[in-house]
Amino acid sequence: MSDEKVRVRIAPSPSGNLHIGTARTALFNYLFAKKMHGKYVLRIEDTDLDRSSEEYKQNIFDSLKALGLNWDEGPDVGGQYGPYKQSERFDIYPKFAQMLIDKGYAYECFCSNEDLDKEHEEAKAKKIPYKYSRKCLNLTKEQKDELKAKGIKPSIRFKVDYKELVFNDLVKGELKFDTSLIGDFAIMKSNGTPTYNFAVVVDDMLMKISHVIRGEDHISNTPKQILIYEALGATVPKFGHLGMILAPDRSKLSKRHGATAVSDFIKQGYLTEALLNFVALLGWAPSDGVEIKNVDEIAADFRINEISSSNSIFEYEKLNWMNGQYIKKMDISKLTDLALPFLNKYDTSKYSRDMLERIIEVTREPITLLKDLENDTQYFFEEPKLDEVKELLSTDLSKKVLEKFKNDVKDYDFNNEEEIHNKLADFRTYFKEQFGFKPKETMWAIRAALTGRTRGADMVAIIVILGKDEVIKRLNNV
Ligand code: GLU
Repeated sequence: MSDEKVRVRIAPSPSGNLHIGTARTALFNYLFAKKMHGKYVLRIEDTDLDRSSEEYKQNIFDSLKALGLNWDEGPDVGGQYGPYKQSERFDIYPKFAQMLIDKGYAYECFCSNEDLDKEHEEAKAKKIPYKYSRKCLNLTKEQKDELKAKGIKPSIRFKVDYKELVFNDLVKGELKFDTSLIGDFAIMKSNGTPTYNFAVVVDDMLMKISHVIRGEDHISNTPKQILIYEALGATVPKFGHLGMILAPDRSKLSKRHGATAVSDFIKQGYLTEALLNFVALLGWAPSDGVEIKNVDEIAADFRINEISSSNSIFEYEKLNWMNGQYIKKMDISKLTDLALPFLNKYDTSKYSRDMLERIIEVTREPITLLKDLENDTQYFFEEPKLDEVKELLSTDLSKKVLEKFKNDVKDYDFNNEEEIHNKLADFRTYFKEQFGFKPKETMWAIRAALTGRTRGADMVAIIVILGKDEVIKRLNNV
């Protein structure tokens, strides 16, 4: 197959916000398309109108875009093989279903839900796996017409004949299925809408999808889909099924473990670059062992057949670490833009943009999430809370230090950072020589008075950012 023919797709159902697992599937499709100079398509699978919503669809768009996983063809950008929303393709599916009936691959089924429930119960009582009884397989035209005249609308079932089905999964290797275990399954519901297995095949066929890369939770659907491709006389795409993402306790990743929707991760202050880098490592490993890599570097190194076929564990701890690494390295202007929404409880307008960047610059080092900045920058925007340092501030040492500092700082040149740095050094030496105070303790007293804390950003930076008036005001308040 020539490179140009590679066409992959991500096909989320808008029945929830974009899940981090779907983001990984999207990323692997995106990387494969990039590597093979192919096309990456977004299709919205909203045939289940009751479970789909505009809001979720928008969340999927926004989350994929935030991650930079922009599609070549899709509902908003269009393309040669649209529409890209299944709800706008409802007139397409019945034609293909009819074609299958005409060729003898499918038949109308008039069984009611009650009939089918009864069959299920009987199978359960006999402890055998359920398969449709084929009650409607051999109905005559007259019988069907009669049922239709009564107003009963049929569903359409695909007739599954015995066959040993083998396919070579790009990730899992050779997979074999005995189709005699699959009962005749519905391809169209009685309300005229397609089932997932049918719509997905018709769309992948018409959209000329060459490789279907998706989660292994769909493996059991694949034999059904291959049977439909074959019946339609279409080329069967290559399949690659990715292992699942599990929580650290090896159960299904769910909200009780932490965020699962991309938009929730972003709300907590994960950087999209870190998220992407992290999910790429769930099943894929860089050939040079260097884990921190941007999408272009990952794409260059990406080989689909090297994806691990086993499940991956979603280590929140590792993601946090990685996020911290990205926060430390990120361009400060960009980081400030991303950080400001997390500081909206403060009046940030009292600082110039340069100063805000400075505040972020001096507080970013220890944080793992952007939301940590709210706490870590508090003393730049509000009066410090002195409760926790009360004792520290009431020692004899602190009193001596703060009294002299209040006096000295009046003469500091706040435009000359280096000078402040040197003066503070002299200040520490003075107390060490005069009173034997440890330099660290001298600085603690000043830090506690100005910030209400014993740790935090660089002291000189704090003094400069707060400015002379504020520093003196805070010292007077102690
Ligand atoms: N709509 C399906 C899902 O959300 C797509 C599955 C597929 O990729 O075939 O899981």
